Amino acid sequence: MSDTYLPQVLPVPVPMDDGFDKPYLDGLTEGRLVIQRCASCGTWIWGPEHVCYHCLAWDPEWLEVEPRGRIYAWTRIHSPGFVALRPATPFICALVELPQAGGVRMIGNLLGDRSQKVTIGDEVVGEFERHEIKGHLYGLMHWRRTG
Ligand SMILES: [Zn+2]
Repeated sequence: MSDTYLPQVLPVPVPMDDGFDKPYLDGLTEGRLVIQRCASCGTWIWGPEHVCYHCLAWDPEWLEVEPRGRIYAWTRIHSPGFVALRPATPFICALVELPQAGGVRMIGNLLGDRSQKVTIGDEVVGEFERHEIKGHLYGLMHWRRTG
């Protein structure tokens, strides 16, 4: 178990009832970023879907991608809607674009100094946190600026 960026007050991530997002969650537990790409047209897909909305093919494939990207948007949160996170404020949430995966965008926490200067376009890499609660292993991924 590693240090956590935010207090462990949020629900433990578990796959949906039909398990179709399990490859993503298993990847995080293993320290890998795994997202979908349509096997028919090659469109990258995020978040998990049963169908490609570009060509309407079913069952996109799951592929590992390098956990790196650039900041598309961000915000420093001083008053989170979830009350249990208030002691951890301020923290930074970023919308990160993955050029190597068709430009899909993922939301995540931005690690580092909570008062750091952040600029649109900053390069970031993913960092994985592993957790175990009551025998259940799971992983999270956060972002850290490289520049
Ligand atoms: Zn497609």
